[in-house]
Amino acid sequence: MIVTRFAPSPNGSLHLGHACSAITAHDLARAADGRFLLRIEDIDGARSRAELAQEFRDDLRWLGLTWDEVPQQSSRLARYGEAAEFLRGEGLLYPCSCTRAQIAEEAQSIGPEGPVYGGRCRVHGPQAGQPLAWRLDVAKALERTGALAWHDALAGEQQARPDLLGDVVLVRKEEPASYHLAATLDDAADGVTVVTRGTDLFTATHIHRVLQALLGLPVPRWHHHALLVDDDGKKLAKRRGSPSLADRRRVGEDGALLAAQLRLHRFPAGISLSSA
Ligand code: GLU
Repeated sequence: MIVTRFAPSPNGSLHLGHACSAITAHDLARAADGRFLLRIEDIDGARSRAELAQEFRDDLRWLGLTWDEVPQQSSRLARYGEAAEFLRGEGLLYPCSCTRAQIAEEAQSIGPEGPVYGGRCRVHGPQAGQPLAWRLDVAKALERTGALAWHDALAGEQQARPDLLGDVVLVRKEEPASYHLAATLDDAADGVTVVTRGTDLFTATHIHRVLQALLGLPVPRWHHHALLVDDDGKKLAKRRGSPSLADRRRVGEDGALLAAQLRLHRFPAGISLSSA
């Protein structure tokens, strides 16, 4: 059975891009009599706002979607801690005290998510007395797993290239896990068979594939869809003036009609699908 999910982070209202993402995942599941899940990714304690989870549910209902909700990430922290402990025990994580500024200064390349970590703490160890994050030693991980492949519904067969992101953080300084670790574990725990999300997270999948191999998790398929962008080619965001779904709902717009238009790729003026 096909199981898809929509996994928003409650640190800002949803906008049209999120609606497209949710509709894509919902329709893929429903077309095959499968399950569509909602998972609230509220792992970022500092930025998450509890009231937004309810706003998201109201938005999805307004769009005419139905779903099963799985436990939100803040209730699953113990599982993330256990997985991190396992990886640490395998010698695959190392502690890192570097600050954002140091990372930017010492990066030898810029990856799809910004500066790629140069490896200072892998080589020299962390600075004493500083807060520590834990990073995946990607080279060691790949030695362990060998070459890995994954499948995207639109882009086809991919060779895993975790080196594009480098030694990513799996346990953050103030949080028990990073997005990469939490989402990978949850997709497995929730029985997701097709991970549906925007192409902005395409490269993250290289890391997730490696984590699945290291943690013995089932390997789903992926469906990375194009993003909605504005006239400047930038991803839609409320801070750039794109009204949120909640704004539209509150002024009485018809959500089911909006969903029908999005399915037909009829977007409001100034908004289009990215070609990437
Ligand atoms: N929580 C992530 C976000 O809101 C999405 C994660 C995912 O779909 O894998 O950007």
